[in-house]
Amino acid sequence: MSTILLSGPDMSEAEKSAVLEAFGSGWIAPLGPAVDEFERRIAERVGRRYAVALSSGTAALHLGLLAWGVGPGDVVPTSTMTFAATANAIAYTGATPYFVEADPVTGQMDPDALETVLADLADQGCSVPAVVPVDLLGRCAYYTRILEIAHRHGAQVLADSAESLGASHHGVAAGKLGDAAIFSFNGNKIMTTSGGGMYLTDVEVDAARVRFLATQAREPVAHYEHREIGFNYRLSNLLAGVGLAQLDRLDGMLRRRRARREAYAALVADHPGVTVFQRGGDAEDSCWLTALLVDPDLAGFSAEELAAALGAEGIECRPLWKPMHLQPVFVHEPRLVNGTSERLFRTGLSVPSGSALTAEECERVDSVLGEFLAAHRAYEQERAVA
Ligand SMILES: *Cc1c(COP(=O)(O)O)cnc(C)c1O
Repeated sequence: MSTILLSGPDMSEAEKSAVLEAFGSGWIAPLGPAVDEFERRIAERVGRRYAVALSSGTAALHLGLLAWGVGPGDVVPTSTMTFAATANAIAYTGATPYFVEADPVTGQMDPDALETVLADLADQGCSVPAVVPVDLLGRCAYYTRILEIAHRHGAQVLADSAESLGASHHGVAAGKLGDAAIFSFNGNKIMTTSGGGMYLTDVEVDAARVRFLATQAREPVAHYEHREIGFNYRLSNLLAGVGLAQLDRLDGMLRRRRARREAYAALVADHPGVTVFQRGGDAEDSCWLTALLVDPDLAGFSAEELAAALGAEGIECRPLWKPMHLQPVFVHEPRLVNGTSERLFRTGLSVPSGSALTAEECERVDSVLGEFLAAHRAYEQERAVA
């Protein structure tokens, strides 16, 4: 019995052909026509003027911050509920990440908490050039309010949309939201190049700056001339070919992820204390990962017990991101928290959500989960009678 993955890569013959085509054309690496085409098509899809293909989403965050001059002495507020890459990228620049509490319903950065943080930092005379909200599990952050608050305090917004390609906020596509945004094409994301990322902006000088820093800060002259420290962060042409084939299939992949969420919602509908996290407005959500929230007092079991039951059947599941303010590596960094993200971390469980899940795999997940819930309901009823 093979393990059913949370979010495995969704590959077809088209991706294989794209790689072979790149081989045939001689454009293996580093750059080439597939990179240009991939950038053009992603920019077009989300409505941005410029896109720069990079080696990872983390690289895109790093260079996006550097393009705005973020560095030592600066403070960059970000969501505490995120993957380490967001906070790491801030740390790479020498700036201090400031962890902002999550909204209890969606787990997104709480705009009121951000307002408090920015007002406090302004009072202290801190330099806050940027805010990095995260589109948690593929649902867009509260950009309308976050942009207003950040801009009023003189900060730009770099949207970590690593998980939200295909999502939108009031009709505006993820990638277009924020003053600049990034995508990840890591193996477990909505679509993948096996490893890769993208920086998106409408500002020509920012795009040029990111491109320059990503290619070893090489000056535009025939010999190798360098006036500053650069990075080797570009995406290879071979992988961009995979990205183009994935992009052709993106809408189908999004549909399958949304259908998974519907199926989970139907399964847990009758079970007290178990809900689908971030439910509602799914059409604007990429549904990258579907998570269940378990209130142990009402459900009769904890998220941990559910994880163990699914794990025993070879079904991969995982707690929500452990908040950054609880991570040993960031223990000394400033934060404004009230226990919300910690509670979400304790009660949330991501369940298989990938678009590559087969019909048999979906059936197996649904039947194992359905039986687990039914057994607990039966037990609760017996207890009520006794
Ligand atoms: C995956 C992810 C990243 C990092 O992307 P990589 O391409 O793996 O470097 C950054 N932020 C969030 C929220 C992510 O989920």
